[in-house]
Amino acid sequence: MELLKERIRQDGTVKGNDVLKVDSFLNHQMDVALFEEIGREFQRRFADCGVNKLLTIEASGIGIACVTAQFFHCPVVFAKKSQTKNIAGEVYTTKVESFTHGRVYDVIVSKKFLGPEDTVLIIDDFLANGAALEGLIDLVNQSGARLAGAGVVIEKAFQPGGDRIRAGGIRVEALARVKAMSEERGVEFAD
Ligand code: 5GP
Repeated sequence: MELLKERIRQDGTVKGNDVLKVDSFLNHQMDVALFEEIGREFQRRFADCGVNKLLTIEASGIGIACVTAQFFHCPVVFAKKSQTKNIAGEVYTTKVESFTHGRVYDVIVSKKFLGPEDTVLIIDDFLANGAALEGLIDLVNQSGARLAGAGVVIEKAFQPGGDRIRAGGIRVEALARVKAMSEERGVEFAD
């Protein structure tokens, strides 16, 4: 998606060798007009997949998923990072290791909001090592829902998540794929 790549070139900053900061338009301050184009593009790529629910993870995925949902005309469910135990068995639960914070979270989704009748598209801001996406995929599998695939805004293709998840037979669409990046040279896209 050219508009997005242009914006990353213009406003993204590279920290160290593997963190791309896009918090002026994607995951702190949010450019909703850009989100609209992102949502339109996800809908174009996953049209005719029968998607009736979007699933994302708090916090950064929520805004993107909400705008995208307006094109799919369906609800958004976000997986919550939780301290509470699944005592009554009323939630699906999995563990996710955070790339940015370096710690492991329990994440949950209520069984009320995901089940075998659903066809789910997972939405997230970044794909790096794949832990966030794999956690969400695990929740979808536990629920018995059908997984249409995953749409991520930015894939850092030099990290292993995308290849591993695609090798597992899951369709992953990334709107911008970063092949390499450095503080000196900025961002280089894969295609
Ligand atoms: P993964 O689980 O695939 O390693 O990382 C995915 C999550 O980590 C995303 O939901 C995102 O919040 C965060 N993340 C990973 N890499 C980056 C990055 O380069 N920049 C930012 N801003 N967030 C990232």
